[in-house]
Amino acid sequence: MCDINTVNTDDNGDGIVNSGTDNRINNDIRINTDSGIDPNNRANDICVDIQNLNVRFPTRSGLMGKISGWTKAVDGISFGIRRGETFSVVGESGCGKTTAAMAVMGLIKPTSGDIRLYLGDYKEKSTQWADLHGGERKRLRRLVQIVFQDPYSSLNPRMTVRSILSEPFAIHNLYGKKEREARIAELLDRVGLSTAYLDRYPHEFSGGQRQRVGIARALATSPEFIVADEPVSALDVSIQAQIINLLQDLQRRYSQTMLFISHDLAVVRHIADRIAVMYRGKIMEMGDNEAIFASHAHPYTELLLKSVPTAGTGTVVTATPKVSTIGDDKDVSTTGNGAGCAFYPRCPRRCDRCVNETPELNDLGSGHFVACFCA
Ligand code: SF4
Repeated sequence: MCDINTVNTDDNGDGIVNSGTDNRINNDIRINTDSGIDPNNRANDICVDIQNLNVRFPTRSGLMGKISGWTKAVDGISFGIRRGETFSVVGESGCGKTTAAMAVMGLIKPTSGDIRLYLGDYKEKSTQWADLHGGERKRLRRLVQIVFQDPYSSLNPRMTVRSILSEPFAIHNLYGKKEREARIAELLDRVGLSTAYLDRYPHEFSGGQRQRVGIARALATSPEFIVADEPVSALDVSIQAQIINLLQDLQRRYSQTMLFISHDLAVVRHIADRIAVMYRGKIMEMGDNEAIFASHAHPYTELLLKSVPTAGTGTVVTATPKVSTIGDDKDVSTTGNGAGCAFYPRCPRRCDRCVNETPELNDLGSGHFVACFCA
């Protein structure tokens, strides 16, 4: 664990101190065509490589709950995350981004596809969750941590901050009793919380403070890879900026790799190095921050960007901003194996080809990928 050299103060007494296709040739040699990164090129120093990931859930009907179909939550997505970068998956609620993140964390078993992790002992030769059992799985689990969306429900209300933060040490058998105390104080310092609150319970904190405790817990095992699943969406707008700045600061200071899940492009813009835009389980567009915000090519990305409220327009911002689309996707089923573009019902640029053919991610250059016939 790294040392903190900054001196923090709690000025106002609030407890926050200022401061597609599987191209596998054999088990180890693969050619990547659509994740945006070639894992065989070590210059990319890849950390997580996802290939053709599919997650389907059964839909049941009738008294006996018989399986009547399958819902495609994640539909053949591929992407790679470089070591030390913040990769963001963005899209509307229900697009499959959290399901994909859970699969990457090994918390959901994918229906098919590869999730290769280059972490810890597996930095040079990757591993998959499915290949790990018992102690090996636990050792890797220590290096992959999550910051949950809801800081209210993700912390045990019966545990003090001290016991919440010492739990990961106990689970992974890290440090002696005395050293654990020092580490807990260091963790609180990292997330800008005062050690005066060590013996308080989660209900005694504000939402922002609780999320800081959640971040401290995620950092306890010195993870190499952090999944932040909508970490600010349950917080007040004024607190969101503090938590985003904290995550950004920690990620830069300790060179951690982060998968940042969000529905809010305004938030993603501040924190992500690269972005994948998801819609109905598929990646519609993927590229670096500048490509997505300055030269996006997919109509759905455009729609998301138009949904971001801008200050100073004199427009009253409603909870769900009105954006011009030509249709509604309510009547489109996500079950079955229907061909055609998933965005067709809402797309202002649609043509006949979009009904019968499914657009694949196409490389526009410099790692900018778009799944649209009109891009
Ligand atoms: S492929 Fe067709 S329907 Fe899909 S986003 Fe492009 S233009 Fe629209």
